[in-house]
Amino acid sequence: MTDIKRVYLFGDGKAEGKADMKNLLGGKGANLAEMNLIGLPVPPGFTITTDTCNEYTKLGPAAVRELLEKEVQAAVKSLEQSMGTEFGSNTNPLLLSVRSGGRASMPGMMDTILNLGMNDNAVQGIIEKTGNPRFAWDSYRRFMQMYGDVVMDMKPASKEEHDPFEVLIDQMKAEKGVKEDLDLSADDLKELVRRFKATVKEKTGQDFPEDPWEQLWGSIFAVFDSWNNDRAVFYRQLNNIPSEWGTAVNVQAMVFGNMGDTSATGVAFTRDAATGENLFNGEFLFNAQGEDVVAGIRTPLQITKIGSQRWAELAGVSEEKRAAEYASLEEAMPEAYQELFAAQKKLEEHGKDMQDLEFTIQERKLWMLQTRSGKRTGFAMVKIAMDMVREGMIDEKTALLRMEPNKLDELLHPVFSHEGLAKAKEITKGLPASPGAATGQIVFFAEDAEKWAGERKQVILCRIETSPEDLRGMTVAKGILTARGGMTSHAAVVARGMGKCCVSAAGSMVIDYRARTLTVDGKVYNEGDWISLNGSTGQVFDGKIETVDPELSGDFGELMKLADKYTRMVVRTNADTPKDARIARSFGAQGIGLTRTEHMFFEGERIKAMREMILADNEAGRRKALDKLLPIQRSDFEGIFEEMDGLPVTIRLLDPPLHEFVPHEEEQQAEMAKELGMELSKVKERVASLHELNPMLGHRGCRLGNTYPEITEMQARAILEAAVNVKAKGITVLPEIMVPLIGTQAEFRLQEDIIRATADKVFAEKGVKLEYMVGTMIEIPRAALTADKVAEYAEFFSFGTNDLTQMTFGYSRDDAGIFLPVYINKNLIPHDPFQILDQEGVGQLVQIGVERGRKARPNLKVGICGEHGGEPSSVEFCHRVGMDYVSCSPFRVPIARLAAAMAAIR
Ligand code: PEP
Ligand code: MG
Repeated sequence: MTDIKRVYLFGDGKAEGKADMKNLLGGKGANLAEMNLIGLPVPPGFTITTDTCNEYTKLGPAAVRELLEKEVQAAVKSLEQSMGTEFGSNTNPLLLSVRSGGRASMPGMMDTILNLGMNDNAVQGIIEKTGNPRFAWDSYRRFMQMYGDVVMDMKPASKEEHDPFEVLIDQMKAEKGVKEDLDLSADDLKELVRRFKATVKEKTGQDFPEDPWEQLWGSIFAVFDSWNNDRAVFYRQLNNIPSEWGTAVNVQAMVFGNMGDTSATGVAFTRDAATGENLFNGEFLFNAQGEDVVAGIRTPLQITKIGSQRWAELAGVSEEKRAAEYASLEEAMPEAYQELFAAQKKLEEHGKDMQDLEFTIQERKLWMLQTRSGKRTGFAMVKIAMDMVREGMIDEKTALLRMEPNKLDELLHPVFSHEGLAKAKEITKGLPASPGAATGQIVFFAEDAEKWAGERKQVILCRIETSPEDLRGMTVAKGILTARGGMTSHAAVVARGMGKCCVSAAGSMVIDYRARTLTVDGKVYNEGDWISLNGSTGQVFDGKIETVDPELSGDFGELMKLADKYTRMVVRTNADTPKDARIARSFGAQGIGLTRTEHMFFEGERIKAMREMILADNEAGRRKALDKLLPIQRSDFEGIFEEMDGLPVTIRLLDPPLHEFVPHEEEQQAEMAKELGMELSKVKERVASLHELNPMLGHRGCRLGNTYPEITEMQARAILEAAVNVKAKGITVLPEIMVPLIGTQAEFRLQEDIIRATADKVFAEKGVKLEYMVGTMIEIPRAALTADKVAEYAEFFSFGTNDLTQMTFGYSRDDAGIFLPVYINKNLIPHDPFQILDQEGVGQLVQIGVERGRKARPNLKVGICGEHGGEPSSVEFCHRVGMDYVSCSPFRVPIARLAAAMAAIR
């Protein structure tokens, strides 16, 4: 074990590591090495490998110190030689920074220590060397703060209390009658160091360590420990970063941005991370150290003159005042700025991506401290990639592979303005069920939503949970907020389909329909109060926040063209109305993969005829009601076929259990009895007879059509008559009739027989024939396992992974929201399987289904229409198992197109 290399040196234009060693050296370490190799000024240092972090987790500090001791000592020696200083010297001390750096950047999650090596002797040495006592004492007190916090655990006692060091600084400022840290003198800072020491002793019972080696080992181990702090663990969960990756530790000679007004420190981006504009930008502070810029204690200045001018315009500061008080680095220190500008250009060209940089200027000399690919918004992601393709910096495939498809969401939905968000107050959080930003007045009932919207009010429909009866209210609401339900709950599915912002399962919220109030953490909101929702993050905010419409720039279109150039799978949409179909087509959908016909039964007169059909107690009664539904369905289908001229349209037969269509409260039942001319008791009796204990596993899907064939007959007739009618107008129709929820070949065959017999009748009546297909959903495990039998008859398969997930895990789609968050927290499952396809389990059934299906019918058309059809990792899986298409809600079509292209390239 001892002959493994654990420490990699860099400095003076040489390095033992390089950019492609990120796994071993972490992103920061690998890039520090690389910056050396390309001739940028980097303070010398060394990186302890990520593997050592794993050894540390297993073996603990004593054993790892033994493994590392010789290499670290040699490395420090080499830094001493390079800097001409000595670690622990009284007269000429070497000071160090110790920083974390994992494979993937985890900004701010782990720990950092600066000015290490400071003690009562070193501070005198620094004063002599620099003739700058204020700087020396400032560095000492900073070191004590960081070391005290990170290594000695000098944290505030409770969340109401302040950091113990900051308390002392505030006291000192009050005593001296000054506002800023910068106004404290060398003597004040010296006194602070004394008080800090006393507090450390009092709180920890230990003396603050004077020995630099003790300080160094303490810091290295603290960084390793910080890999497993709560923040870091949570961040890793959110971003799917494995805990085995570990963090590296970077130890570097200190350079100082706090040596006075000719020193500075800052953070910069080679392009704008919010808009993608190709403009170097960033912020800095004079006479400061790294943490000051990000910590937000002092207001930073702009690096470039143009940035400074733009800032002044927003802040309402005149040009004279700006130039005098807020001058940019470009104006204040032109030489250092020019050097920084050249460095950022070199780094971007070298890394071929937008970079996020940290730098320090020590007495006018520039030092680069970090470079990494910068985090960016969805807008910036698209613009930067397409700009770089045009600039010839990257090729088309690289541009596509750089995309995070989910981020396209931001481009497709209204968004909150930056100014608005900065002021917003979050009141609770739920699931980010459907992205976008919405602001409006609270209403609790769908009818009120409609009424208020009719009066041109913006409303947020707040429900404990939604039912199909709320559909119209949902359509007119700006956003939907529910206390229950998951990502595939009705509200979520419908909202995504409509491209409407929705936050679901905001569990800390209590809704009282009777009082018309919504209570969060004791605060009561009434009907009419304003709230705002961010459907991309699940946040719920108090009050109004201004929204702005997205602009679908030319870059977005170009990117989509590139995606189509490299993709193999087709992307279709789930659409229930002509309007949805039109939107999806404008986003590039190449057909409809799922039309849920039940959604058509809820509006206006239709629900009446539907209820009449359900309440009929014999076939004749049902047929009479179905005759009323036929023309309505036919005209719906005509609308959809017209929008989808030339593209295939999959229409699914009725799926949900019938009791979902009838009211359960006596008042509405009485109303319905009156409308239908029935006895209330009769209505009640019939509704009671429809009651099921497990409706999701009950009388739904093809079980309806097989028990009441007349329903299938009516729907098949409506589809085919519509097809014949629009064909007569010169429109190309490609209908695919889909049977839901089959588990056996026989179930499918009975449905197919009814459909084909109906088709023959329709064609004979109309004297026209057309091509159509009959296929099935695969959403019951048995259907997947017997796919070869099913495919003997079914012409296509569409995997319904919502139900397939439900039935494979045995998790109810409607109720899993109660325990899934706990399961995810306890690491029992990696993520919500209703959002991200469980490839390991459910995926096996999908794969078996595809393979066995194609064995029986080689040209079997296969797709997916569950919610996973728009989720990037699931789309990649669909590509791998050889599906022909994925189908998703209209607003996810671009995301799926991108994910499909990326899968094909990979
Ligand atoms: C499914 O089960 O995946 C599906 C698409 O059908 P629904 O969500 O309508 O049950
Ligand atoms: Mg289903």
